[in-house]
Parts: sequence; structure tokens; C-alpha cells
Amino acid sequence: MAQPFDDAELGALLHRIADEARQDFAKGQNLGKVADYIPALAAIDPNKFGIAVTMVDGRQFCARDALEPFSLQSISKVFTLTLALELVGDELWSRVGREPSGTPFNSLVQLEYEKGIPRNPLINAGALVVTDAIVAAAAVSPPIKAIADFIRVRAANPTIRIDDVVAQSEKAWGYRNAALANLMKAFGNIKSPVADVLDTYFAQCSIAMSCADLSRAMLYLANAGIDPQSGQRVVSEQRARRIKAIMLTCGHYDASGDFAFRVGLPAKSGVGGGIAAIVPGRMSIAVWSPALSAQGNSVAGTIALEKLAAAAGCSIFD
Ligand code: GLN
Repeated sequence: MAQPFDDAELGALLHRIADEARQDFAKGQNLGKVADYIPALAAIDPNKFGIAVTMVDGRQFCARDALEPFSLQSISKVFTLTLALELVGDELWSRVGREPSGTPFNSLVQLEYEKGIPRNPLINAGALVVTDAIVAAAAVSPPIKAIADFIRVRAANPTIRIDDVVAQSEKAWGYRNAALANLMKAFGNIKSPVADVLDTYFAQCSIAMSCADLSRAMLYLANAGIDPQSGQRVVSEQRARRIKAIMLTCGHYDASGDFAFRVGLPAKSGVGGGIAAIVPGRMSIAVWSPALSAQGNSVAGTIALEKLAAAAGCSIFD
């Protein structure tokens, strides 16, 4: 049994975890490598560290760089999956699977064998299919506005913006994503023009938001599909459960098993160094530290979540 934990202690716990991360950086421990295949991300200080928790009851706790916007990257895939399911319904599952891929996030290999049907919506290939569904179904133009507005409403922050420098940098170096999209187009699994899908995908990845914003924005998944602060139902309870199942099994690519083993929470990482994690019924957590593991997941962010889940007794397996 986990030790009983008083949620009022969360603020102090976050500060302790942030201090330990700072000490690790000073000692040169627990270091990864900042993503450099997107040049605009390469310049970020690897010693940044922010962490925020938003509770279902409305309390929010933040430490260190929790208010500084960072590049959302693949964490955007959770929001687009939610939005696409609402727009096109369960038909989406005829175009993208629900199995962990066991391969890097931008791998092409499986896609050829499996005839253009990506393993899951949280690897790049799957996320491109999801974005394609939004591009075709969005009621607004350009479709990125539907995605950005959805995220702004979820975060209750209308000032969240797309970092155009990052989007342009992704586009200029987006050879693998272009390859994935073109391969799927050849298999008939991308409906809209490839260029439109890629532009929308690069823009959604380039949304900049803080840990405080992100933990607030994910709160609907901690509360069975309803945003507890506005009372708005975002997705059905069943969809919220299923999205979390996919986050647990696929949210960290070929390190998803290791993340479940160490942290035990449904979560999604991005190469900007962010991780969003859900404690069902209780809270949403966002952590940011830009230096990554070989699989593209924040090293210090994972350590922080491991400590938080253990101290607060909030792994879903507790
Ligand atoms: N924009 C990035 C890419 O497509 C997102 C990858 C990630 O965050 N893992 O390569």
C-alpha cells in the first residue's frame, strides 16, 4: 500500500523535486540531449525545469519554470486525437490502430509492412492521419485554428500561440514526416493534400504553452471527460478512458513500457521536453525539461514524475 498523502503537501513536494533536478543538473547527472533535428529547438537551455499540477478541485501548484512557455510538440497529439474523435467518431479507428509500436516515433519501417495503417495515434504516422481527419472535417479555416482554439479553451488561456519560427524550422527539416505522409497517401490513408496535412501538423507541434497551461488543459482527462472548472463535457467518459489507455501504452513510443514501469501513469511526451500525465479522478501534471533520452522523452521530466507518483502514492497501479 502507498503511504497516505495529503494533497495540500503537493506544493512543497513540487519545490523539493525541482530543487533535486537543479542539484542533478549542477552535478552533471541525469542529462539527456536537447532535440536538434528541429534546429529551432536546439538552442533551448537544457537546464530548464518546470512542473505544475492542477487538481480536479481547482487547486494549482507550480514550481520553478512552470510559467514559461515551451514547444508542445507531440503532446499536441492527445488534443488532436480528442478533437478528431469528436469530429469523425469511432470511424477514425479504421485508419489508425491502438497497439504500441515498439519503434521510434518517426519510424517508417512498420508503415510499409502494415499497408499505411499506423500502429497508434501517438506516433508521428498516426498523428498525421488524425490531423488529416481534422483537416477534412474542421468547420473553420484554416483547420489549425480549430486545434489551437480547442487547446486555448481547454487551458482557459486565449493568449496561447503558435511559434512560427519553430513551425518553419520543422517544415524545413520535416523530411521524415513528409515521407510518412506521402507513403500513407500512396496507401490511400491520407485524404487531404499532403502539404495541408503537414502544415497543420507542424503548426500544432509548434504551439507554445507553459506547464501551468498544459496541466490545466489536460484536466478533462482526469475528470472522466468533463472539464471540472467550466462543467463542459469535452468527450464521453468512455473516450476519456480510451485516450488514457492509449497514453499509457503508446505515449512514450518505444519507452512506453519503461515509463509505465517507472511512473505508472497515462502520459504523453514531446520532443520539446514536456510530459503531461493524468492521475484519474485527482489531478493532471505537466513537467518540462528539454534534455531528452535516446527515445525522445525528457530525462529530468521522467525522473520528476517517478518521484511525484511514488511520494504522492498516485500511480494507477497503487
Ligand atoms: N514535431 C515533432 C516531429 O514530428 C514531434 C515529435 C515528438 O515530439 N516526439 O518530429
